Amino acid sequence: MVTIGVLGMQGAIREHVRMLETLGAQTVVVRSLEDLQAIDGLVLPGGESTAMRRLLDRYGLLEPLREMEKLPMFGTCAGMILLANEVEGYDAHLKKIPMTVKRNAFGRQVDSFEVDLPVKGIDEPVEAVFIRAPQVARVEPEVDVLAEVEEAIVAVRYNQYLACSFHPELTDDLSLHRYFIEMVKANQSQHV
Ligand code: GLN
Repeated sequence: MVTIGVLGMQGAIREHVRMLETLGAQTVVVRSLEDLQAIDGLVLPGGESTAMRRLLDRYGLLEPLREMEKLPMFGTCAGMILLANEVEGYDAHLKKIPMTVKRNAFGRQVDSFEVDLPVKGIDEPVEAVFIRAPQVARVEPEVDVLAEVEEAIVAVRYNQYLACSFHPELTDDLSLHRYFIEMVKANQSQHV
């Protein structure tokens, strides 16, 4: 049994909790340092990255999360922005993945859209909902690109970090959460 935290600052928190519990994980909504102690992995939900950053500062979680070097993390949409080493035009947040993201990168005309997206490492295409989504503008070579939409990178993996520009938690497609739970279990067996 694994225990997965869902960062509880702002955004689609409950939706992630529901998916993780459907897959048999225990969940903790993370709002304090104490909440971080009991978890094997952490999901950073979609929402608004600047609002989440303000709350991370207020709850004193930014530095502790930056310093956690072994905890697997999965960021969706704004959560992906939180994980990037660089954010075009803004200060970066947790700096876990050597990549540069561009916020709201699909433009106003295509504010939100949905596609069946092939993702490396997952057998069936993933149901992907994009809402004012970021794109990955640049990645370092050691980052594994998992999915692209019209040549824009929208999902990556780097060591124990997973990130996607879209919202799997707003669909019934459990495949990325299942993938993340497998990453968490693999990480646990490495560190026992
Ligand atoms: N546009 C948001 C941001 O830049 C992300 C949108 C989302 O999470 N749906 O933080």
